[in-house]
Amino acid sequence: MRIYSAPVLAQVANIRHILEMHGIACRIQGEYRSGAAGEIPPTEAWPELWVDDPAQLAEAQRLVDEAIQSADTAQPGWTCPSCREVNEGQFGACWNCGTDCPDNPPA
Ligand SMILES: [Zn+2]
Repeated sequence: MRIYSAPVLAQVANIRHILEMHGIACRIQGEYRSGAAGEIPPTEAWPELWVDDPAQLAEAQRLVDEAIQSADTAQPGWTCPSCREVNEGQFGACWNCGTDCPDNPPA
């Protein structure tokens, strides 16, 4: 079952890491499909995280929600000044075009 998807593979890999730390078997699907973006609806080109065991689904969903919430509260999102894409706060550069976050000058 698909439990999570995000436009950036690193985000999906991060969630997978959290689930694996809690002993939940999961795998990433579609990580090579992003090259096809533009031919299929964008959300369908996102890498997805799948949990195979239905018995672990509720626990996995709870961990995903927790991870998303802690990411949200840790740092506010920001809008790219170049392409207007909305980025999550933990990213120092736009995931879409690579422009540095205006509030996050390189150290
Ligand atoms: Zn951008």
